[in-house]
Amino acid sequence: MIPGGVNSPVRAFRAVGRQPFFVERAQGPWIIDADGNRYLDYVCSWGPGILGHAHPKVIEAVQRACEKGLTFGAPTAGEVELAELIRTCVPDMEMMRLVSSGTEAVMSAVRVARGFTGREKIIKFSGNYHGHSDGLLVKAGSGLMTQSVPDSAGVPAGYAESTLTAVYNDEESVRSLLEENRGQVAAVVVEPVAANMGVVPPKAGFLEFLRRITEKEGALLIFDEVITGFRLALGGATEYTGVHADLHTFGKIVGGGMPLAVYGGRKDVMSCVAPLGEIYQAGTLSGNPVAVTAGITTLRILMEDQGVYERIDRRAGKLAEAFEREGLTVNRVGSLLSAFFVPGWDAPETHAEGYQGKRRRVENYEDACGCDRQAFADYFNRMLERGIYVAPSQFEAMFVSDAHSDELIRKTCAAIGESVRQGA
Ligand code: PMP
Repeated sequence: MIPGGVNSPVRAFRAVGRQPFFVERAQGPWIIDADGNRYLDYVCSWGPGILGHAHPKVIEAVQRACEKGLTFGAPTAGEVELAELIRTCVPDMEMMRLVSSGTEAVMSAVRVARGFTGREKIIKFSGNYHGHSDGLLVKAGSGLMTQSVPDSAGVPAGYAESTLTAVYNDEESVRSLLEENRGQVAAVVVEPVAANMGVVPPKAGFLEFLRRITEKEGALLIFDEVITGFRLALGGATEYTGVHADLHTFGKIVGGGMPLAVYGGRKDVMSCVAPLGEIYQAGTLSGNPVAVTAGITTLRILMEDQGVYERIDRRAGKLAEAFEREGLTVNRVGSLLSAFFVPGWDAPETHAEGYQGKRRRVENYEDACGCDRQAFADYFNRMLERGIYVAPSQFEAMFVSDAHSDELIRKTCAAIGESVRQGA
């Protein structure tokens, strides 16, 4: 009844040649399937689960919110409270809108950029994913890479035409697109740390360059922080990198595990959104009171215990070391990491002392595409046999949560040692 048996394609486990498990429940770092198998979960619902699953305070707050009613289609104080918390964490969020998914957030931010600048084109980066709205499904990373479908069928050519694609970490590719399309580009939209072609950090100076050139060319800079927001730091990529964008999009963590996302930023830009301005954007369930409660509670927990970021960063570092010992190329930024099976990863010298710096780097979409998907699938399956669930694709991040204790991380490192090289 459901295409591929799943309601979002990467869940189907096709890239790793097996059927997905069906989840019964999840608690802390664990996810339990319908057959009663328990897995240590490094997918964390693809990012929201920074505190682990079913945090007692979040569940309790949500239960209380449910008792008051599930949706009103009218404003509530909670929406203002959440907006204030977001602005406290990310001061650049001067004005914002709550929506229900990351897709909606980025789609809306792009519309606002177009409405504000009066320009039509946008620049995105190959391998960056910004949700499945028509104009953004161009060279869009993760799910599409896993399926080997570069672009979606059903997207009118006209939409794709106004989406220009540059190469991540390649300043020249951005400069030349902006020059060829002078006065026509509304925005450059970027994952400030890319996490949908596997994790790919921005090279030193790359985000600063985007800031300077967009300002010079009169285009807006949009940070898609659906993954990085409240994950790299409370203040997201801006706090982590020091670079400021005009608009930001948040999802995942900000909804505390419920369908909620946010877009916003400069007040002069956001003041163009209806009913203040002429850019239309709306939603029956936007600012849903139950989702807002989950978001408020999650952000409050993170704000009260900022040790979370130090802990998840350190633990992710341990995982990275375990992968490096096996010869893999690791990209890690805070608690986000990916281990890449780059060609030659299994050559004996890759494991030699002092080899570290010579490993092939993964800096963009093309590098990521060159990885050995079969080796990844073998590793995935061996991890699953050992009760550890990592994302079923070479092109997704591994998410570390505060529920992954040091002891569990040690066990995971041992499993990595057994799973990567077996049969290599
Ligand atoms: N932007 C980024 C950077 C994402 O990673 C995602 C989803 N993984 C989205 C947008 C789309 O969010 P959603 O799946 O909530 O629509």
